[in-house]
Amino acid sequence: MNDLYAANTPAAFWRPVQSISPVLWDGAARAAAGVLPPGLAESASNGAAAGILGRALDESLFGEERYRLSGLKSIYYAVARPLLPTWVRPLLRKVYHPADDVQSALGWPVEDRLVRFQFALLARVMDELGQDALNIVGLWPGGNRFACVLTHDVEARPGHDFVRQVMALEEKYGFRSSFNFVPEGYRVDGDLLDEMRARGFEVGVHGLKHDGRLFASRQLFEERAQKINGYARQWGAVGYRSPMTHRNPEWMQSLEIDYDLSFFDTDPYEPMAGGSMSIWPYFIGRFVELPYTLMQDHRYLEVLEQRSPDLWLEKVDFIEDHYGMVLLNSHPDYLLKPGGMAVYEALLAALAQRRDCWRALPREAADWWRRRAATDAAQLATPAGRAALPEAVVWTIENRGNRLVANVPGAR
Ligand SMILES: [Zn+2]
Repeated sequence: MNDLYAANTPAAFWRPVQSISPVLWDGAARAAAGVLPPGLAESASNGAAAGILGRALDESLFGEERYRLSGLKSIYYAVARPLLPTWVRPLLRKVYHPADDVQSALGWPVEDRLVRFQFALLARVMDELGQDALNIVGLWPGGNRFACVLTHDVEARPGHDFVRQVMALEEKYGFRSSFNFVPEGYRVDGDLLDEMRARGFEVGVHGLKHDGRLFASRQLFEERAQKINGYARQWGAVGYRSPMTHRNPEWMQSLEIDYDLSFFDTDPYEPMAGGSMSIWPYFIGRFVELPYTLMQDHRYLEVLEQRSPDLWLEKVDFIEDHYGMVLLNSHPDYLLKPGGMAVYEALLAALAQRRDCWRALPREAADWWRRRAATDAAQLATPAGRAALPEAVVWTIENRGNRLVANVPGAR
């Protein structure tokens, strides 16, 4: 397994209050591995159950070349795409990525196998211990059973100029969000960034130029990473998403960020195939990864031509049922088109009705995940440990035979 993913063990994910031996965890991982996609399931039967979660998260199902764009794709994204006016790109992507042409190893829009693995594994641990209940450090702070995180990438100047309308809509429903800007793509208005921060929104960085070349070579990436770090410092930004979700976990360690948003649980339509199957944050070396878990707005609104939030909300149901993180990446550039804001507003209205959802900025979600991982259960029993994670609550996971249910103190 890639060392960048070593912190992601089932024990670190579930954080039981009582101590459980590594042997027990490994045995449970081996027993639960059968629900994972075949390539991963087999790797556990070869005796290497310990790293199986990391191997799932690092997209190893998609092969050694997964972070390299194929020749044709790299030409399209690096040469053809930047020369085209913005409005033809969605049309071209439609032609370039006909839906029935896409074959993915993962389900979409819901991929449930990693989720089932995590729950089956914990059920096995409880069986081995002879317990039908187990206390863990809650996955989310306070009385929240799941999390809702809204993010945006700002592609071009029209989107930039539409940010205030999107903010106003979110405020109406009690949400705040992050907007990732392209530092050298268009002129970014400093007054807008100041206003966003004052209104409780978050500013992030979206690549450097949005020209599809960021990952063209290691050298070019390193040069651009230094500039990206400079803009992040200047903007006070701690979060990042790559244009077109181009990504490489190793190279990206050069980014001085707290969290990244360039990965996803499942999305067969992105130029680099993949999917970590995770509906929760995880660690990639120095940063926390917050994978997006809802379909991007471009596909939802323009390709599938959805005019209600229902399809999004089906995925929200799945995530809520499994105590996960709803994370949407939408673009002011697409929301400003006819019908876009109406669908987005209907989604916000529906999310605002959900109880026990932690409405977090991405930097808050990343910070929580990092502090939760750094404070073990024994520490939590001490005043100092308690002070490091004051909003933590202990959840009781109950095994009801066919499924695990969390009792979350403070939840309504
Ligand atoms: Zn973009």
